[in-house]
Amino acid sequence: MKDDRPYWNMEMEPKFNTPEMREIQETKLRGKLKALRERAPYYTKLFKQCGVNEKTSFEELRRAIPVFTKADWREIVKAHNGDILEAMDQIIPVNAYEDLYLVASTTGTTGEPEPYPFTQKDLWDVYGEALARYNWRAGLRSNDRMLHCFALSMVIAGIPTLIGAFKLGCMVIPVGAEGGTERILKTAGYYKPTALMGTPSLALYLIEKAPEALGADVGKMGIKTILCGGEPGAGLPEVRRRIESAFGCKLFDVGGALGISCDHQEYQGLHQVGDDLMILDLVDPDTKEPLPFENGRKGEMVLTTIDGDAFGGAFRRSPGDIIQIFTDPCPCGRSGFRYKFVGRVDDMLKVKGVMVYPDMIRKVIESFVPQVTGQFRIVLDEPPPRVVPPLKLKVEHGADIPENKLKGLASEMAEAMSKDIKIRPEIIWVSPNELERSTYKGKVFEKTYENK
Ligand SMILES: [Zn+2]
Repeated sequence: MKDDRPYWNMEMEPKFNTPEMREIQETKLRGKLKALRERAPYYTKLFKQCGVNEKTSFEELRRAIPVFTKADWREIVKAHNGDILEAMDQIIPVNAYEDLYLVASTTGTTGEPEPYPFTQKDLWDVYGEALARYNWRAGLRSNDRMLHCFALSMVIAGIPTLIGAFKLGCMVIPVGAEGGTERILKTAGYYKPTALMGTPSLALYLIEKAPEALGADVGKMGIKTILCGGEPGAGLPEVRRRIESAFGCKLFDVGGALGISCDHQEYQGLHQVGDDLMILDLVDPDTKEPLPFENGRKGEMVLTTIDGDAFGGAFRRSPGDIIQIFTDPCPCGRSGFRYKFVGRVDDMLKVKGVMVYPDMIRKVIESFVPQVTGQFRIVLDEPPPRVVPPLKLKVEHGADIPENKLKGLASEMAEAMSKDIKIRPEIIWVSPNELERSTYKGKVFEKTYENK
């Protein structure tokens, strides 16, 4: 197939948002419902209770089946005396002891890991396929060399991302976030990657570290494409500008719910590139009731995998993200509705009744670079979400800001936040490089109440 075709998968990707795709989704959903009913004990029972069978349409399903939450998972684990493997076996339509190729997990701050099981088919035909689509849309081809700097344990950004690269046929150079920035930069020196994958925190950290570790700016690395994911950031205009101009690259934002941004000048959100693999749905974050799937609508993202087998763990499952969806055609002309990340359900703060997500704060702080470094922490003296105002923010000022200017800068920043997000925080200045950097996911909160 030609290297200049617009999509990796010319059979499926042009069909997104068409009646034909909806038919494909319904057919695949019926297969998924049958497999779960027959082979996943948890769903055998739940489907019976909720009156769901193989004839149930997606529209009926989203009203009949409640969102699968962390609390549901905890219940299942408890009912199986803390045996995670046995609990997992209840919710997937394959044998958890024999059929799996990979299990990745997210770990909350408390409780047991939330597993994401994969069979060979899940890895190759579902996630590998979606990630090959990402890579293709980002312009990567089989002659590219990709430096993999995500932590290997990350659910999608770890191993499934590697499978996507193998499927495309590019050369993978794994270092992982675990390698640390110096090793990442040195490895880049040996193999001259044309592309890099990692968190935005890592990309920003490499910009700071390169002059010391390499004796040169990151712009000398020759990286043409960066795919950033694992945490928000690559969608913020200032972060994008800093990464793109420092590396001299094109930056793409990627998400685990099968989305990648396009190369339109202005950020348009992530195009969902897996309509035939997974149905992305929206619910109200408070009531968990289904919301209309329409342009501009904000809500909690709920995922239902309709292809593959063991990833049945993602059946009306919420990864805990609040997103905004855009069903209007994108000016870039590529297929797939789009979504923008708004915040994590768990990271939501309520300041005098105003809902605030860390990303909203990050956006304002980033607009003050280089007067600030862009690094900050939200200081929480009490467990969230309720915050007694003023919200306290530790912010690193820029290296060249004289001390007598800091007070004025703090009021300017508080004013900008008051205008943009309706809160007036207290800014606590800290020196450049005082806050710990991360090669993994950047830390946002400083929870003083945990030390009390
Ligand atoms: Zn687009």
